[in-house]
Amino acid sequence: MSEAAWERPVLVLNAGSSSLKYQLVVPETGEVRSRGLVERIGETGSEVADHSVALQQVAERLRTEGIDLDAFSLRAVGHRVVHGGPDFSEPVVIDDEVLDRIRELSALAPLHNPAAAIGIEAARKRFAVPHVAVFDTAFFSSLPPEASTYAVPRDLAAKHAIRRYGFHGTSHQYVAQATADLLGRPVEDLRQVVLHLGNGCSASAVRGGRAVDTSMGLTPLEGLVMGTRSGDVDPGLHAYLGREAGLSLEEIDTLLNKQSGVLGLSGVNDFRELEHRLATGDPDARLAFDVVVHRLKHYVGAYLAILGGIDALVFTAGVGENSISVRAAVTDGLEGLGIEVDRARNAARSTQARVISPAGATVAVAVVPTNEELAIARQTAEIVR
Ligand code: ADP
Repeated sequence: MSEAAWERPVLVLNAGSSSLKYQLVVPETGEVRSRGLVERIGETGSEVADHSVALQQVAERLRTEGIDLDAFSLRAVGHRVVHGGPDFSEPVVIDDEVLDRIRELSALAPLHNPAAAIGIEAARKRFAVPHVAVFDTAFFSSLPPEASTYAVPRDLAAKHAIRRYGFHGTSHQYVAQATADLLGRPVEDLRQVVLHLGNGCSASAVRGGRAVDTSMGLTPLEGLVMGTRSGDVDPGLHAYLGREAGLSLEEIDTLLNKQSGVLGLSGVNDFRELEHRLATGDPDARLAFDVVVHRLKHYVGAYLAILGGIDALVFTAGVGENSISVRAAVTDGLEGLGIEVDRARNAARSTQARVISPAGATVAVAVVPTNEELAIARQTAEIVR
C-alpha cells in the first residue's frame, strides 16, 4: 500500500428512490476527490435499471477520472440514512441486522428509508469494505423528553414510536461545531440557534453542542415553511380538509409535502426565483417571503426562551448561506435582544464561514456553510478506525 490510511478516501452515498448522490472525500483534509449524481434510476427508458447499475456507473465514472475503487484505495462507505427511529442515536457499522432495522423503519420514512436500504444493499455487494450508516435523526436523540414528546396518549405513542425525531441532524451538528471553531470558543460554552434553510428547512436549539430542541418532528414536515412543505399547520386541518374538500389522507399528505410552502403561496419553490419575483413587486412572492420570515422569527424567539438567551445565531444551507434578504429580514427588529447584522458584512459574498454581526455584538450572527458529506465521511472514518 502506497497511500497512508489517513489519505484514503471514504465514499459517501446518499441514495434516493430514483437518484444516487456520491462524493469521494478524504475525511481528515476535506479534500473531495470526486462527486456526482446518478439520476433517473429505475425510470422507464432510463439506462440505469437499479441502484446496482447506478453504482457500477459511479465506479466507471471514477475510473475515467483515474480513480480505481477496486484497488485498495477505498477506506469505507458512509451511507446517509434519513430515519434512525428510536434505535439509532449514533452512526453504526452496517451488518445484516442493522440493514433489516433500517428497512423496518420505512414506516416512519416511507419516501427515504426504502431507498437508503436498497442503496446499502447494492453497495455492500459492490464494495468489500466496512459500510457505515449515518442517521439524519441521530443528533436529536438527545432531545429532552419535554421537547421530543407529543401530547397524545402515551400508550399509542409507545406502540407506534410517535415522538419528535428531528432531521438534518448531521448538518446541525456539523454547523454547531464549525461555528464554535469560527468563534474560537469551545462548543461546550455556547448556546446556539442553527437555521438550516435549503429546500427542506429546520431550526435547532443547541446547548453545549447538544440539541435541546428542533423544528422537525415525527416527519420532516413539521416546523418552518419550506420550498414545497407547509411546515406547522393546525393539526385540525387534516380533518377539516377531509370533511370540506373531500381529500383522502394520502392526498392531504401529498398536498402538505409537495404542493405547499413557498410553492403553494407563490407558484415557485426555488428561493432564487422567489427573490427574483419579489424584485418585480409580485404580491404573492411578497406574502410567501413574509410568511417564511415570520415563521423563522417565531422559532428563533422560541429557542431564545428555551435556551435562556443565545451566544450565536447561525444560518446555513442554500438559502441560509446565500440569501442576504432572508438573513436581514429574520434579524430585523431584534436589536433589543442583542441580535443584529452589519449591513455590509451581511451583503459580502463568500463561501467561507463568517460572522455578520457588528463587532462587539452580544450575539454572534454567523453564516456557516454546511457540509453533510464531509460530516458523514468523518463519522464513518471515526467508527471504522
Ligand atoms: P437541499 O435541501 O436540496 O440540500 P440546498 O441547501 O442546496 O437544498 O438549498 C436549495 C435552496 O437554496 C433553493 O431554494 C435555492 O434557490 C436556494 N439558493 C441557492 N443559491 C441561492 C442564492 N444565491 N440566493 C438565494 N437562494 C439561493
